[in-house]
Amino acid sequence: MNVPQMFGENVFNDAVQKETLPKEVYKALRATIESGKQLDVSIAGSVAAAMKDWAVSKGATHYTHWFQPLTGLTAEKHDSFIEPEGDKVIMRLTGKSLIVGEPDASSFPSGGSRATFMARGYTAWDPTSPAFVKEGTLYIPTVFVSYTGETLDKKSPLLRSMNAIDKQAKRILSLFGITCKKVSTTVGPEQEYFLITEEMYERRKDLQLCGRTLFGAPVSRGQELEDHYFGVLKPKIAEFMADLDKELWSYGIPTKTKHNEVAPAQHEMAPVFSTTNVAVDSNMLTMEIMRKVAKKHGLVCLLHEKPFEGINGSGKHNNWSMSTDAGFNLLDPGTSPEHNTLFKLVLAAVIKAVDDYQGILRASVASAGNDHRLGANEAPPAIISIYLGDQLGALVDSIVKGEDYVPVKALEGSIGVPESPIFPKDATDRNRTSPFAFTGNKFEFRMLGSQANVSDPNIVLNTIVADAFEQFADELEGEEDIEAAANAIIERELKAHYRIIFNLDGYGPEWEPEAMKRGLLNNKTTADAAPVCFEDKNIQVFVKQGVYTKAEAVARANIQLENYTKIINIEALTLLEMVKQDIIPAVSDYVADLCTNVAAKQAVNDSIPCNTERDLIMKLSESNDKLSSLIVKLEDCLDGIVVDEVIPASQAMAHKVIPIMEEMRRVIDGMEKITSSEYWPYPTYFDLLYSVK
Ligand code: ADP
Ligand code: MG
Repeated sequence: MNVPQMFGENVFNDAVQKETLPKEVYKALRATIESGKQLDVSIAGSVAAAMKDWAVSKGATHYTHWFQPLTGLTAEKHDSFIEPEGDKVIMRLTGKSLIVGEPDASSFPSGGSRATFMARGYTAWDPTSPAFVKEGTLYIPTVFVSYTGETLDKKSPLLRSMNAIDKQAKRILSLFGITCKKVSTTVGPEQEYFLITEEMYERRKDLQLCGRTLFGAPVSRGQELEDHYFGVLKPKIAEFMADLDKELWSYGIPTKTKHNEVAPAQHEMAPVFSTTNVAVDSNMLTMEIMRKVAKKHGLVCLLHEKPFEGINGSGKHNNWSMSTDAGFNLLDPGTSPEHNTLFKLVLAAVIKAVDDYQGILRASVASAGNDHRLGANEAPPAIISIYLGDQLGALVDSIVKGEDYVPVKALEGSIGVPESPIFPKDATDRNRTSPFAFTGNKFEFRMLGSQANVSDPNIVLNTIVADAFEQFADELEGEEDIEAAANAIIERELKAHYRIIFNLDGYGPEWEPEAMKRGLLNNKTTADAAPVCFEDKNIQVFVKQGVYTKAEAVARANIQLENYTKIINIEALTLLEMVKQDIIPAVSDYVADLCTNVAAKQAVNDSIPCNTERDLIMKLSESNDKLSSLIVKLEDCLDGIVVDEVIPASQAMAHKVIPIMEEMRRVIDGMEKITSSEYWPYPTYFDLLYSVK
């Protein structure tokens, strides 16, 4: 395989654009992509024709406007290129069809922002993310808005948030004598996932309907030996990964790193970063292709945040930074950050933003699935805090405490083996327990769930940092001595937001009470986290930065809570079905068999011991009865919930339904351990986690 040659072969990328478009058209298109110049509509026809010719040469017969509605997934509706001409057809894509589409919007969630009879919605081409050909269809990335201009998707607010940061960051940069065409945010999302065999997957209704197991006793060998992380890849997994790389590379997605993760059957893939909207599209495509390639290999890729209890869940690390079109990274501390006022100001802006808006940042990663990770053992807690590392930590401390800064320099390291070369040590060690960690020249936001659309947290990050930049720029513009004024702001803001910085173990038991003392938020469930989005301050920041109107912000929070409620409801119904239709009958059959055995033994001679059977009969019968009473309790609870009342409904799900489901699970897991495997109706954790040989 010639990787450089096949990389991006399915993408209408810069090179193809240059080759196929008339020079003027190419220049106009690149101006839009690179410096955010409004698209010149008159070039659309020409771009469409070139795109269509290229796509047809790749075997495409259809095109689709590809968008990301508020379901968090992607959506597509395929139209063919054909246009009748007499008895024949020609292949055609007009400029208008490239620029706008009109899917019926009424069946997509709008969070009450629009009545269902108002069905008109438009998709509009997003030229900043390249089109591509997949399985005979030309995919055109688009935004999705309603007839009245409300955004109905995740991408338009993302683009607006990127505009906001572009505008405000340029103001800050120009105060320091730096001019540029565009400041973009960059993201490299690391993606975790599980692989199990299709055969096992098909035997678990919960995995199929909910993406996770609703019960399952712990397997005797979990991850305690710590032998899976970075372990040797099983041949079947290696084949999957090789195939995945190949597919993703063909779509121009620069996958770079792949390895086994901590839990058995868990793996990770990390791409090289790109501008945020391209990174988002690539990640959506990555998740889809992961599932598809897995299927080809007889596997199923589980992207749920917590498919299995008791072992690590899956997340997505959102590596985030900002850089100019010339490649200047605003979060690069340089060799002596203590003298780098611009860097310190940018850092202060991020710290201020994250502290001021910790509630919405937390809410942006809240989902039913992710609730199982945040606050659990292996993932960041539900509390937002920032880790700066030794070097920046010491710098910030010195500013806040008014002490001299003693630079922490990167040490020359040696591994103590003479043959081995000296290697440079990083100035900062890693801290895997922080939800928001500075890692050299970027922040790594680690709270994202593995199946999340990464737009959500990035919309928030971009918006709140743009807002902090705006406040700083307002203050600084017109100042004589920018350095001095900026340093005053840095000191003031670092002092004001010092509480959000935590450089120690975020998983330790001391952190939660300490965070409470500092007044940091600790919203453990989606039901508790999402309602902060209705608070005026949290709405106003979006309004001010031109990212959401008030109605849009409210609609999104409604959808998030509605979605949460629906997911828990589906999980509860699935559990009820599995228990009633399979577990209780199977265990009852086993008990009946045990009873027959006891009777048979007794018939032979009533002194034959039957204690084992009697004990099992007793325990399992009691458990079945316990399950029956929990079924009634759960059903009653669900009956009392009015799904449309988003806040009370989500509260009931979080604090009433989930605890009953948990209780049922404990009973079921206890039963699984003592029921003959011949009778147990579902694959166990062992079957699932060790299914790939
Ligand atoms: P680490 O080992 O500290 O996690 P890596 O260099 O392995 O860092 O990068 C992890 C991810 O961060 C990769 O996806 C990488 O492309 C991405 N990344 C690196 N630099 C940036 C940046 N400036 N902006 C956004 N993401 C970045
Ligand atoms: Mg990392």
